[in-house]
Amino acid sequence: MPTTTPMAQHQFLRILSRDAAEAAFLAALNPAPLGIEEVALDHLSGRVLAQDIAAPVDAPPFDRSTVDGFAVRAADLFEASGAEPVRLGLNPETIACGTAPRLAVAPGTATPIATGGPLPRGADAVVMIEHTEPEGAQIAVARAVAPGSHVAFAGSDIALGQTLLRKGTVIGAREIAMLAAVGLDHAAVWRRPRVAVLSTGDELVQPGQPLRPAAVYDSNGPVIVAALRENGCEAVHLGAVPDKAEAMTAAVQAAFAAHDALILSGGTSKGAGDLTVAVIAGLGSPGIVAHGVALKPGKPLCLAVCAGKPVVVLPGFPTSAMFTFHELVAPALRRLAGLPPRSTARVAARLPVRLTSELGRTEFAMVALTEGPEGLVAHPVSKGSGAVTAFAQSDGFLTVPALAESLPAGTEAEVTLFGPAAAPPALAVVGSHCVGLDAVVGRLADQGLRARILATGSQGGLAALRRRECDIAPIHLLDPDSGLYNRPFLAQGMRLIPGWRRMQGLLFRPGDTRIEGRTLDEALAALLADPDAILVNRNQGSGTRLLMDRLLKGARPPGYWNQPASHNAVAASVAQGRADWGMAIRPVAEAMGLGFLPVADEHYDFAVWQEPRDPEAIAAFEAALTESAPDIRRGGFTPG
Ligand code: AMP
Ligand code: MG
Repeated sequence: MPTTTPMAQHQFLRILSRDAAEAAFLAALNPAPLGIEEVALDHLSGRVLAQDIAAPVDAPPFDRSTVDGFAVRAADLFEASGAEPVRLGLNPETIACGTAPRLAVAPGTATPIATGGPLPRGADAVVMIEHTEPEGAQIAVARAVAPGSHVAFAGSDIALGQTLLRKGTVIGAREIAMLAAVGLDHAAVWRRPRVAVLSTGDELVQPGQPLRPAAVYDSNGPVIVAALRENGCEAVHLGAVPDKAEAMTAAVQAAFAAHDALILSGGTSKGAGDLTVAVIAGLGSPGIVAHGVALKPGKPLCLAVCAGKPVVVLPGFPTSAMFTFHELVAPALRRLAGLPPRSTARVAARLPVRLTSELGRTEFAMVALTEGPEGLVAHPVSKGSGAVTAFAQSDGFLTVPALAESLPAGTEAEVTLFGPAAAPPALAVVGSHCVGLDAVVGRLADQGLRARILATGSQGGLAALRRRECDIAPIHLLDPDSGLYNRPFLAQGMRLIPGWRRMQGLLFRPGDTRIEGRTLDEALAALLADPDAILVNRNQGSGTRLLMDRLLKGARPPGYWNQPASHNAVAASVAQGRADWGMAIRPVAEAMGLGFLPVADEHYDFAVWQEPRDPEAIAAFEAALTESAPDIRRGGFTPG
């Protein structure tokens, strides 16, 4: 029997495959809609019909004219022609919309009628006003009309008793039009599952509140709430509870009692303080059906069914939480909501690099799409399972089966799109990222041109450009032999669009006398002589790393292998005292209030093909670059 006493450490008892976990969850839950409610027309959008709807009236409700003209007997006009128009006497009434006719149309007569007016007795067609000439109390008609011309007959659109909408239909604007057209002001729909969302963790702070040291914002809560709403549920965000057994047990029990389902996140792994799984184990039988699923990201997922209700603990990392939610939780919840399975669009795309994968786990890799020479290219956008931005930068994901160890470069893969219209961007900018680029891309966006920036480092960008899998490669690479930036690295047929210069230098906390007030050589000597001076380096493949390696001349000071992938991470590390020195650009140092010792005024330029895939897009980029010069200068860079 599971107990409610939390353990400081526990192991996953048994790792289930994705399919086994799903089967166990569905078997225990047997998900079906929760009940029916009547909802007013105004609030039906997005709801799911629980019953077929039969039309209670005909639409239109009477025979009516579809044009402005004259109600006639078609037989009177059989002989009418331009040469010999037929004359009809006008009846003394005009049938407007909403007026019931009083007089019949006798042979040889006509009654003026507006679009939507009810056809009078005797008439069987309408002649358009454009095809008549007024002649006092008569009209002359110069062409014949067929019986039924310009008449919509009662019930011709919707016939009384006809099934108008079927059970299971998701109601949108078109369905609402049909309901309103037959006078229905409400419909029977499935009750939405009310799902409680509770984040767990001592470190969590709600968005909008100030961040304490060592704390992070609760991003799982809001993203799960949004995903629940997209999947037909009513989501109730209960905030975050700390990792304290008593507080958590109380919050979980109250949430469980008051809702149809409960989704927690965090605290399911093996770490100290992880106790959500022990807490939910006490909620009811059958209880936990899977804890530990062979997914990557997402292994710590815990699925339970307690007293007929789903109870899920998603992994704490936001991307893991989202993938496991969509893969295993959303399908079950959609069945509770009466919704059909979500339709996902897939496209084929080529993988430009080898994608390593863990054997034995179904792996999800987020990818950004660009247009390549032979169709779509899927660039992996991996920042680790703790990253949320990868979602915004990618168009979809590909699934690496549990039995594959890696996908070789060149694999044709199937990408599941996040949204319906994930068209590749007009401009793919792949390489080194610089904050100055945001001004240029913003200007392009104002012109309706979508650019996508993928930060792979200068060398990754050049490689993608060589394969023609991107349009522009921003680079800052120094050739040690010539002392020139960037140009020596271009392949035959490439050219350089001049970007800007940016000062790279050493970052330090103000008051650090090993660097402050010294020359570069003095500072380096002092830092390398001090075993307590900890460096924060940069990732391999980045231009900044090359520059640091040149400075170090083979030295390996403490912290050398601490190698984050951005200027900001270097600055944060120094500002927070994890490291004492590192290399980054001046604007980043200034934004963090750090000291800065200049090292190199480097050139940040854009490599492109002389004959690009889309010359107009490149021209637009060059124009935007020129126009952005003032913004770039304000950002602390020197254009040109
Ligand atoms: P856990 O599963 O609780 O061990 O958490 C794993 C990681 O995810 C830790 O870095 C947590 O800080 C982070 N995390 C947990 N819950 C959330 C949340 N609601 N929002 C953002 N990050 C979270
Ligand atoms: Mg936690």
